[in-house]
Amino acid sequence: MASSRVKTVCPFCGVGCGINLKIDEQGKLTGVEPQQSHPVSRGKLCEKGWSTAYAIRPDNRITEPLKRIQDRFYPISWDEALNEIGEVIREIQAEHGSDAVGVISSARATNEDNYAAQKFARVVLKTNNIDHCARICHSPTVAGLKQTLGSGAMTNSTKDIFETELIVVIGADPTENHSVFGGQMIEARLRGAKLVVIDPRVTRLAKMADVHLQLKPGSNIALINAILHVLIKRKLYDASFVSQRCEGFEALARSVKAITPELAELSTGISAAKIRTVAELYGQAKSAMILYGMGITQFVSGTSNVIALSNLALVCGQIGRPGTGINPLRGQNNVQGACDMGCLPNVYPGYQAVEDKLVQDKFAQAWGEPVATRPGLTSLGMTKAALAGEFRCLILFGEDPVVTDPDQNHVRVAMKKMDLLVVAELTMTETAKLADYILPAASFAEKEGSFTNCERRVQHIAQAVQPPGLAMGDWQWLKALAEALGSHALSWTNSEAVFDEMASLTPSYQGMTYSGIALAHGLQWPCNQDAPQGTAILHQTVFPIGKARLIPVHQIDIDEKTDEQYPLILTTNRLSCHYGCGSMTRKSPLLERETPAGLLFINPADARTLHIQRYSPVGIRSRRGYVETRAMITDDVPPGLVSMPYHFKEAPSNQLTNTAQDPITKMPELKACAVSVVPLPPG
Ligand code: SF4
Repeated sequence: MASSRVKTVCPFCGVGCGINLKIDEQGKLTGVEPQQSHPVSRGKLCEKGWSTAYAIRPDNRITEPLKRIQDRFYPISWDEALNEIGEVIREIQAEHGSDAVGVISSARATNEDNYAAQKFARVVLKTNNIDHCARICHSPTVAGLKQTLGSGAMTNSTKDIFETELIVVIGADPTENHSVFGGQMIEARLRGAKLVVIDPRVTRLAKMADVHLQLKPGSNIALINAILHVLIKRKLYDASFVSQRCEGFEALARSVKAITPELAELSTGISAAKIRTVAELYGQAKSAMILYGMGITQFVSGTSNVIALSNLALVCGQIGRPGTGINPLRGQNNVQGACDMGCLPNVYPGYQAVEDKLVQDKFAQAWGEPVATRPGLTSLGMTKAALAGEFRCLILFGEDPVVTDPDQNHVRVAMKKMDLLVVAELTMTETAKLADYILPAASFAEKEGSFTNCERRVQHIAQAVQPPGLAMGDWQWLKALAEALGSHALSWTNSEAVFDEMASLTPSYQGMTYSGIALAHGLQWPCNQDAPQGTAILHQTVFPIGKARLIPVHQIDIDEKTDEQYPLILTTNRLSCHYGCGSMTRKSPLLERETPAGLLFINPADARTLHIQRYSPVGIRSRRGYVETRAMITDDVPPGLVSMPYHFKEAPSNQLTNTAQDPITKMPELKACAVSVVPLPPG
C-alpha cells in the first residue's frame, strides 16, 4: 500500500476547516496538513486542527461492545449487545409507552449518522424524543431567526469578513473558539475594517476593537434596544428596506421609544455616549456584519436576544448583501448539520414541523410507517422526566452530558435512575461510565459522510483508516439495532444512500449529491433547482416568510442574583486549546501541555479582597454544587465576575451552573449564576 493523503474536514469547531489526513504505507494515520485551496480555512489550521491525529489515536479507544455487570464492564459481542438492548427497549415501551425512551445524537457525528438517529427515534421507537447539544448552544438561534427571517442559520459566508466595513462581535470569543475565523477577523481589522466587540470579558478581539462595550452579563436586550432607539430617533435606519422587506416597524419603534441610552446605562453599565457611538457606527456603515455566540444564546433570554439582534440588522438593511447579516458562530463541527437533519424534538429534517399534518404525511409516506405527531422531549426535558421516573431509556452517542449539561449532580442522578442507558463513544467519558451498555463508535476518519459547517457548507468526508477493533459507524449500529427491534426502516447499504434519502426529503439539500459536494469543497444550502450551485448569502431578494418580522423584545434579567452568600457572578468560557468535554483534545500532549487543568479567571480587586494568590487553589460554590480549581488573576474579567472553562472533568464548571431555562427553547442559563469563591490551603 502506498502512503496517501485523504481529504476531509476538521472534527472540532463549526468553522469547518479543510484538512488532509496523512496515511502511511501500513494504513495508519500519521498526521494532518491544511488544505491550501480550501475556501474557508485558506491553508490554515488552529492548534486543535493540527492535533486531530491525537484525538482519534487507537490507544485508549473503546474497541468492543461492553456490558455493565454490577460495577464493572465486560466485553460482549455486537449481536448479544443489540439483542439484549432491543429486548429491554421492548419491555420498557410495553410497560411505559413509546415516549419513555429517547435518543441524543451528536453534533460531532456526520449528517448521515444524525439523519439515521432521528429516523430511528421516529420510525423505530415511534417517538419524537430526539435532541442533541444544540439545545445548549444555538437552539435560540434556530427559534429566533426562524421567527424573524424564516431560516435559523448564518445568513452570510465566512469570506464576507473581508468585504465588510464594520465587524460587530457580540457574546463570542472567536480567537479562542473559532480560531481560524477569529484570525481572519484580526486580518480584516488590520486591513481597515472597524471592529466593535460587545462582551463582559476583555477578549483578545476586545483588546484591538475600535469600541469595546463591556456590558453587565445578561443585559444584551437593554443595550440593543437603546441602540435601536438612537437609530430610529436620529433616522439612521434604512427606511426603504424596512418598508419594502419588513413588517412590524411601528410596534418596534414604539417599544424602544423610552429606552434611551441614559436609561440603558443603568442596566448595562455602559455609558450613554458609547451606546450612541456604536449606534452611529452601525447605522452609517455601508456594510456591517454581526457575529455572535453563546454570550447571546445561553441565557433565559436566549431567543429574545437573537430576535433583538435580528431587529437591529433588519432595521438598518444590513442583510442580504455581501459583508452584512446575522451570523451565529456554531460551536461543534456539525451542529448546523445535526439541526438540519432534524435531530430536534419539534422538527423533521429541514426544519419541517412535526405538528404540521402535511409534513407528517410526507414523512409517513416516504418512510412507509406512521410517525409520532407530538413534539418530543428536549435533552434537558429527558433528564427532568428521568428524575420523575417518567423517562426510562436513553440511547446516546458522541455527547457527554454529565460534563457539558448544567447542574452536573442532577444529570448524574437522572442517568443512574434510568432502566437502560446505552452510550456509543470513542473513549470512556464520564457519561459512558454510567452506561449499561457501551458501544464502540467509529471516528470521523474511519467513515464516509458529510459535515455542514457554520456557513451552511455541506462537505464530503472520505474514510481514511479502518475503525479499531469492532468499532462501527453510528448509522450502521443504529441500523443493526433497528433490525434487532424487528424494523428494516434503516436498510441503507452505504453512506451515499443515507445522504440521497435525506436530500430527497430536505428541501434545502435537495440539489446535493456526494459527487456534487465532493467538488470544490462543498456546497452551501439552500442548494436546489433554483440554486444548483448553492447559496452564499441568504435573503438577497426575499425572505422564506415573505417579509421579515420585526418583533419587539424587552430586557429579561438573569435568573440568579448575587447576595451575601453568593456575591459573584460566574460565567463560562472556552479555551483555544480545548474543545467540548475535552475527550478528544485532552489526548494531545501538546494541547494538554498548554492548558493541563481548569482555571478560575478572577479580577485582581476581587482576588485581593478574598486573599487569593495567582495560581493558588480556590473553592467555588453555587446553590447547586462545589468545585475546586486554581485562580488565574486577570483584569480580562471585571470586578464582580468570575469565569471558568468547562472542558475539565476535574474542575467541572457544570457542577455550579443554573438549569433555569429560556421558556421557548429550554436553553439553560449557562452564562450566569451566583457563586462564592474562597481561597484554599496550598495542595
Ligand atoms: Fe478545526 Fe475550528 Fe481550528 Fe478550523 S478553527 S482548525 S475547524 S478547530
